[in-house]
Amino acid sequence: FDIHEEKLTSAEKDFENALRPLRFRDFSGQQKVVENLSVFVEAAKYRGEPLDHTLLHGPPGLGKTTLSNIIANELGVGFKITSGPVLDKPGDLAGILTSLEPNDVIFIDEIHRLSPVVEEYLYSAMEDYRIDIMIDKGPSARSIQIDLNPFTLVGATTRSGLLTAPLRARFGINLHLEYYDPETLQRIIKRSAQLLKVPIVDEAAAEIARRSRGTPRICNSLLRRVRDFAQVKGNGTITPEIAGLSLQSLNIDKFGLDEIDNKILLTIIDKFRGGPVGVSTIATAIGEDSGTVEEVYEPFLIMEGFIKRTPRGRVATRLAYTHLGRNYAQADSL
Ligand code: ADP
Repeated sequence: FDIHEEKLTSAEKDFENALRPLRFRDFSGQQKVVENLSVFVEAAKYRGEPLDHTLLHGPPGLGKTTLSNIIANELGVGFKITSGPVLDKPGDLAGILTSLEPNDVIFIDEIHRLSPVVEEYLYSAMEDYRIDIMIDKGPSARSIQIDLNPFTLVGATTRSGLLTAPLRARFGINLHLEYYDPETLQRIIKRSAQLLKVPIVDEAAAEIARRSRGTPRICNSLLRRVRDFAQVKGNGTITPEIAGLSLQSLNIDKFGLDEIDNKILLTIIDKFRGGPVGVSTIATAIGEDSGTVEEVYEPFLIMEGFIKRTPRGRVATRLAYTHLGRNYAQADSL
């Protein structure tokens, strides 16, 4: 399962959209974030002003797109969605910004991947609701200023460390999304199952939740696959047996770790004797970017107790050894 949205097929995207909560009350977990956002949204609505520009950061699949859509719904305004890599030229951005109605929400996913020219262009739009556009070419080329309707930019990033200081400074609201606990994921699975009209036993939902890497996107896509097994190999109901059987045939890790998580652990254990080893060394060994390892993968592994952060680098824990079938006692004596 790939948790990065840009790699989803269109059927998977349709499936996600069908399950996307549209209101704060349907959005489970992230309690602090939701509490704060509801106050800010309420206040903006009361004053008839746009909500302050909002930055949402956190690993993929935790609900950044969903929340930004909810913000627009709760404000009762329009919603436009785009992403950093898609906005190639300032003209692309200008096209969207000039189409916004007053107080609309524009969502830019992967905002850390904006090109520097487009980013620069965004500054005055965010600050003064104004952009300069070039008209004509050659000697008669000149720039004219266009006033925009006031709007809210919601930016999402998995890599907040890559945001430039001037861009970061232009967000009045800055919120971090955390991995979900299994109980919350279980609630999300039950809600999704209900929307899909597939009966599910509580214990089965709990098992899928435990294997979802703290991520709603993953629990929904596992549910999609398990539903197939229930309909083909069972009587349509997702029972614990069906869930267990299908998760096993799909090779889903008992703890919800994905391939890269496991590669990271194996690298620390097999190549660096369990650590301590620096993040950039781990990243090089597995061919990943070190910022991605640090901001996207490591937080989950630390939260679940597979690695520890020490002043001299990362260390694999006993849990990591036993999970991967390595002998911890032997490692100790090395
Ligand atoms: P991100 O933008 O952070 O990558 P998304 O907002 O696209 O994540 O969420 C991925 C999927 O997970 C969506 O289908 C959405 O329905 C579901 N989802 C995310 N957060 C929640 C939540 N708190 N409650 C219910 N479903 C959620």
